[in-house]
Amino acid sequence: MPEFEPVSEHIARLELPWRIFDLVNAPVSVWLVRGEGGYTLIDTGPPETADLMVAAVARATGGQGPQRVLLTHGHYDHAGGLEALRVAWNPALLCHREEVPFVTGEVDYRQLKPHSFTFWIGRFFLARNDWGLPVARDLEGGQAADGMAVIHLPGHTPGQIGFLHPQDRAMICGDAVMNLKGRLSPPAAFATPDPETARASIRRLGELDYAHLLPSHGPPILDRGREALLAFLGQAQAEEETLTGQW
Ligand SMILES: [Zn+2]
Repeated sequence: MPEFEPVSEHIARLELPWRIFDLVNAPVSVWLVRGEGGYTLIDTGPPETADLMVAAVARATGGQGPQRVLLTHGHYDHAGGLEALRVAWNPALLCHREEVPFVTGEVDYRQLKPHSFTFWIGRFFLARNDWGLPVARDLEGGQAADGMAVIHLPGHTPGQIGFLHPQDRAMICGDAVMNLKGRLSPPAAFATPDPETARASIRRLGELDYAHLLPSHGPPILDRGREALLAFLGQAQAEEETLTGQW
């Protein structure tokens, strides 16, 4: 049984198993944030593990469940537990303004304009979202949600957001960067319609102040999260320069 494990004073992490195309293991994290007004859940995992997720949330909250769910973005492996949460506790659902139509089912991610060949192909393999749930409130960059700052991190999806928890000095960054095989990487190309904007979002993460970097895929980077991100940005920059030099 997967359980929430504390990562900082107010934030706990639950890692759920997930397989892309039934092939690649890409476990995904959901976050439980304890605040003055009760519990906030950030992301919900894929539909396949919704029961495990709801059971873990019930144990971690003493049965009361989350009062609200914030979505970093509406991809299958982040929003797939929404229906199960609605049945269990019917929490309010919040996401970025530009992500709303994907969550309510008005628009499909496959309809996004591809800026890369990989996404042009990859989009046909994206799992379809079929929950179509109402969104209680939409968020924007610069707003606050439960004491956390909402940071707009577009590119991977138009309305991807991260949450900066100033008290815990933690940055919950969704898929803006991933931490796979011990190194940071940009979001998966096959699921990222606009890689250039996604790179700008990684640079944005480099401008913020935090100690812990908490990505959705891969382990959290505690204490030296910002340093790791800046090192990755430096590396990426050097690689880009070498490439431009070659051409
Ligand atoms: Zn994603």
